[in-house]
Amino acid sequence: MNCPRCGAPSSVLETRAQDNGAIARRRECTLKHRFTTYEIHSVPYKRASAPKFIAQFMRTVKARVQMRQRDMLLYKRLHEGATKLATEFNISAKRVYAAARKGRKEWAAQQQAKSER
Ligand SMILES: [Zn+2]
Repeated sequence: MNCPRCGAPSSVLETRAQDNGAIARRRECTLKHRFTTYEIHSVPYKRASAPKFIAQFMRTVKARVQMRQRDMLLYKRLHEGATKLATEFNISAKRVYAAARKGRKEWAAQQQAKSER
């Protein structure tokens, strides 16, 4: 299967069986773009009829796409928040993440101490 971004050939990194009997393959093209393909039987799988199976399969794919969109939105919000904090603390957005990582331990310890009081 060729890469949907650049058209280069790809190879399979990982293959996973889905609950609905479909197969998901994580692929990488020669230019290192990663994408997932889904493979389903052309004949009905187990006892489900083909249209029923395809409908179920499409629901799974849609749910997955929605989750990706949610994750993208979460990152967008996080990025916007970091940008705001960078302005507020007069540091670069990159340093916001680094500083927050450093501060996390102390903050967690403080929260722990508060809850034990
Ligand atoms: Zn590619």
